[in-house]
Amino acid sequence: MSEQTQSPNSNQLQIDQQELVDGVIEWISHETPTYEAEAINRLADLIQVQFETINAEIERHPGEQGFGDTLYAHVAGQDQGPGILVLSHIDTVHPIGTAMGDNKIRIEGDLLYGPGVYDMKAGAFIAHYAARHLHRSGLKPKLPVTFMYVPEEEIGSPYSRRLIEAAAAKAKYVLVTEPARDGGKLVVSRKGVGRFDLKTIGRPSHSGSKHEDGRSSVKEMARLILEIEAMTDYDKGVTFNVGQIKGGTAVNVVPRECSIELDMRVVTEEQGEDYLARVFALQSSDPNVKLIVEGEINRPPYEATEATMDLFQVARECAGEGGLDLHTTVTTGGGSDGNFTAAMGIPTLDGMGADGAGAHTLDEYVLISSLVPRAEMWWRLLAQLT
Ligand SMILES: [Zn+2]
Repeated sequence: MSEQTQSPNSNQLQIDQQELVDGVIEWISHETPTYEAEAINRLADLIQVQFETINAEIERHPGEQGFGDTLYAHVAGQDQGPGILVLSHIDTVHPIGTAMGDNKIRIEGDLLYGPGVYDMKAGAFIAHYAARHLHRSGLKPKLPVTFMYVPEEEIGSPYSRRLIEAAAAKAKYVLVTEPARDGGKLVVSRKGVGRFDLKTIGRPSHSGSKHEDGRSSVKEMARLILEIEAMTDYDKGVTFNVGQIKGGTAVNVVPRECSIELDMRVVTEEQGEDYLARVFALQSSDPNVKLIVEGEINRPPYEATEATMDLFQVARECAGEGGLDLHTTVTTGGGSDGNFTAAMGIPTLDGMGADGAGAHTLDEYVLISSLVPRAEMWWRLLAQLT
């Protein structure tokens, strides 16, 4: 595809597919499970050096809560003032060893396999490559660009969330390098995610000799689970999933405690508030069984605002110049760090990464043919966005 693309400036270098493939392979060869802080920091070191060679200003926030560092690379723009935040995570869900074993790094035809290649190292690399390409072409982005690499997105960004929000507060636009969807589509909206822990506490007794004295926490929880799952409303895009359940101590004991973990997805902020209230309003039907509810909206819904759609149009034009016909996908159920920035009212485009499939699985790959057109879109967007 690179032969078809035309640079507006004839002096400019071409985007090199092999260079992109080699760069992505180097990043995925650094395996980075969320909980391996040292491994995360080694990849951050590599990215830091790569940005230093293009004169970016580096900032590093030491890891908190045992997680790896958060890395920032600031690339100067022609103009001052609020710029572009490019948001990436460098952690993956795969344990170390996957790259040599269960999803060995390899190329099969157009498919490049490897742990975390689709979610999201190829996307993170493409964005970095766009900055490199601008630099060596003697060009500068119009706006200053901050590239931010967080170490623990896969578990909900517990410490980096406040850093992401602080960086986004200074930005005019946010571009997220999460994988493209459904054949290369961008993401302009995502469901919000609620997470809850519910516990019932009853009264234990011998299930044989004193059954009537017991108050079963499991029985009450079973009733509550049906009530919770019945709140799922596909027409509204609202879902509830009781994904984990624990309870009881032995088969012949009326169980004292039962607990569940609940995942909730909503499309709008209003729904988020409504259903959050409904979860907290759940009640035990048995006065002798206590119910405890804890939880929150972990990622607020990311809704496609007018400003986000305007930003999408600019990206679409930039993609078009490189021969890529860009579309948006339907609201996706999966959350990302884009939820935080969009909820702040900052125009956010997500799914800017590579096309491929198999996120979080051992069949994860990207389409090599998607790398050049995406890199073309990226450098044009960084060069032109005002
Ligand atoms: Zn991701």
